[in-house]
Amino acid sequence: MSSSAPAPAPTKASDFIRDIIDADIQAGRHDKILTRFPPEPNGFLHIGHAKSICLNFGLALEYKQKQGEENARCHLRFDDTDPVKEDTLFEEGIQEDVRWLGFNWDGFYHASDYFEKMYEYGEHLITAGKAYVCSQSDAESKATRGTVKEPGKNSIYRDRTVEENLDLFRRMRKGEFKDGEHVLRAKIDMANPNMKMRDPMLYRIRHTPHHMTGDKWCIYPMYDYAHPISDAIEGITHSICTLEFENNRELYDWVIDNLIDYANFPSRPRQYEFARLNLNYTVMSKRRLLELVEGKHVSGWDDPRLPTIAGMRRRGITPEAIRAFCASVGVAKANSTVDMAQLEFCIRDDLNQKAPRVLAVLKPLKVVIENFPDDQVDEYDASLWPHDVPKEGTRKLPFCKEIYIEQDDFMLEPPKDFYRLAPGREVRLRHSYCVTCTDVVKDESGNVTELRCTYDPETLGKNPEGRKVKGTIHWVSARHAVDAEVRLYERLLKDEAPPTGKDSEFLNAINPDALQVLKGCKLERSLSEAKPMDRFQFERQGYFVADQDSKPGSLVFNRIVTLKDSWAKQQQKK
Ligand code: ATP
Ligand code: MG
Repeated sequence: MSSSAPAPAPTKASDFIRDIIDADIQAGRHDKILTRFPPEPNGFLHIGHAKSICLNFGLALEYKQKQGEENARCHLRFDDTDPVKEDTLFEEGIQEDVRWLGFNWDGFYHASDYFEKMYEYGEHLITAGKAYVCSQSDAESKATRGTVKEPGKNSIYRDRTVEENLDLFRRMRKGEFKDGEHVLRAKIDMANPNMKMRDPMLYRIRHTPHHMTGDKWCIYPMYDYAHPISDAIEGITHSICTLEFENNRELYDWVIDNLIDYANFPSRPRQYEFARLNLNYTVMSKRRLLELVEGKHVSGWDDPRLPTIAGMRRRGITPEAIRAFCASVGVAKANSTVDMAQLEFCIRDDLNQKAPRVLAVLKPLKVVIENFPDDQVDEYDASLWPHDVPKEGTRKLPFCKEIYIEQDDFMLEPPKDFYRLAPGREVRLRHSYCVTCTDVVKDESGNVTELRCTYDPETLGKNPEGRKVKGTIHWVSARHAVDAEVRLYERLLKDEAPPTGKDSEFLNAINPDALQVLKGCKLERSLSEAKPMDRFQFERQGYFVADQDSKPGSLVFNRIVTLKDSWAKQQQKK
């Protein structure tokens, strides 16, 4: 995998997280700043995770610059506390994605590295009278939890002695009980207005092997217990998560407060919540992404229609564009939905400077230039860059008697403002001459199969005398063109938001035209050498990337994004 240029420290205006960190430094609460990115290895990362990655790793880069290299770090930590859904395969994918986005971790950990410590702290909480083994069934604990308006009821196991609790907890670890027979709960307050504080579960029994610890454990810590402990052991100072964890913060603090003296943690971490990224015209929940992949609605986790990092990479989107997008979204305290057009803007803005301009005809229509000598081949040194991109470079562009143009660039009975080709009308061929359509060849059913034109030899690089030619169209030389398959991608969903209803209903919102495969496209000769991940602008059409399936002789290109927001226009028309 060709890795991207490393991310520079963001030069972003401040936001509330950065304000908090600055204030902590000023007040002397921390001299080192440690953040972490804590994915659960149960799926692939998506653009929402990219926001969290850019924030956490970006903060470390920024404070390294401000405070010195040694005084800021960001850890990658796999939050692997649920052995049922997690897998090493996902871990590899996630690491690749983080690196590709341009970030490197300063420490690599697993929550499971701390299972032994977490267990020890569990015994400590029991000894301190802060935790107990509860033997209620699932149904019983649900029924006694209370509601937002009503307090819960104490479990009948709440007053077990320390000795009994320790004995049961040790036997839980030894594997003497079945899944669900007992749990370890924090002893807090069943009447607490925050439901998360009503004697929350800390440990449960799961006789399931774990991808890191194998058969060593049959009890596993819950997120709300494992996360603060992992943060504290690593010396994380600012534990940044998304808003739906706001209510968990009280429990986060409870865990730290009740262990910090015993455990002698290197830091007193604090949790801060920011708005998660939501994007319209796509889905981001792991459950839905999984359903799309497993239900074969897409070709895999790296299907270019998906907002996964792997999908966006294959689509040809650059890490720089994703980072610019995340920076443009900013870090806010209130949830909102970002318009896909904003991401597409960032993609175009980045590729404008990076993608050389070439000619490609996606839906070819043959044109014979009757007054051009049969065997003559002209070659132009055609610039790869427009005037407003400060780059230089040309390629040899061959021209001969037979060329292809885009079917859409011809109309039999055009309206007045159609500045392309039509019977009797003249148009400029990009980098080449002006041609006039003199005849139209049709098949039996009346479809146009070929055009006859004449060219004006006086018009190479200059305007014809006394005539105005308004339109310029792209073309390729028929004799020199290379064939390609081109995959045109659109947004995944046809509606801005998927139906909020039941589980699989969102599948009805999938845009059936999100992938259109064109075969027999004609590309200019210089593209015959394109290698996977090479990006180009096909003039007048959009940005394209050579797919990983692409080989010389059987080229495959993906459309990354169209040039303008043609989607919005199409929708308006409808
Ligand atoms: P789940 O918890 O359902 O498995 P998740 O999306 O929370 O899914 P994690 O692997 O736990 O996945 O996420 C890792 C980190 O990425 C977390 O800190 C989480 O807050 C953050 N994150 C996930 N989705 C988004 C999002 N849409 N916007 C911003 N940050 C996100
Ligand atoms: Mg999560």
